[in-house]
Amino acid sequence: MKIYVDYDDCLCETARSFSRIAVEMFGKNVPYEDIKYFELDRSFDLDEEQYERFMMRGHEPEILLSYEETPGASDVINGWISRGHDISVITGRPYSSYEPSRQWLDDHGLQKAKLYCLNKYGRDSFIRNSDFSLELEDYYKMDFDIAVEDSPKAFRFFEHLPELKVLVFDRPWNRECVFPNSNYTRCCDWASIRNAVNRN
Ligand SMILES: [Mg+2]
Repeated sequence: MKIYVDYDDCLCETARSFSRIAVEMFGKNVPYEDIKYFELDRSFDLDEEQYERFMMRGHEPEILLSYEETPGASDVINGWISRGHDISVITGRPYSSYEPSRQWLDDHGLQKAKLYCLNKYGRDSFIRNSDFSLELEDYYKMDFDIAVEDSPKAFRFFEHLPELKVLVFDRPWNRECVFPNSNYTRCCDWASIRNAVNRN
């Protein structure tokens, strides 16, 4: 099978890190469970200038490398790879973040997972002249059987694959979301993702 895996808040605990950074930078205490919006400027009540600095800080290599692995992610993915499944990590991070992002995967035993940067969120404003390793037209030529994603903003990238099973990693910012169709399943952890893939 071909499996799409999102990076932030699927493989690693990005939002928990941003929660700590918001305290350090702005004295704003928004615990993980209270991050209700995928738009972090809204969740953390930041103005445009603060949001830009916040995102720049969150994409510095030392921060990207410090993200904690979401429990079970590398074990489950390596189990898939050992059974011959094809894994593509498709992140909305800009290509300027590629090297530390690749490094983090390698450091966490995911050397065999491919990594692509796709402009999912139009976030190029916070890193000037950012580019992405995967052009949209090339992304749309790719085919997947299963996707693991936490962001409702990314669901539009699945519309062209009517058979795709989408496993939505349960996060506070996607709990209110109405899924586009019955191919979507909420999964609370990597054990339930593994079980859902085994059933497929
Ligand atoms: Mg994500």
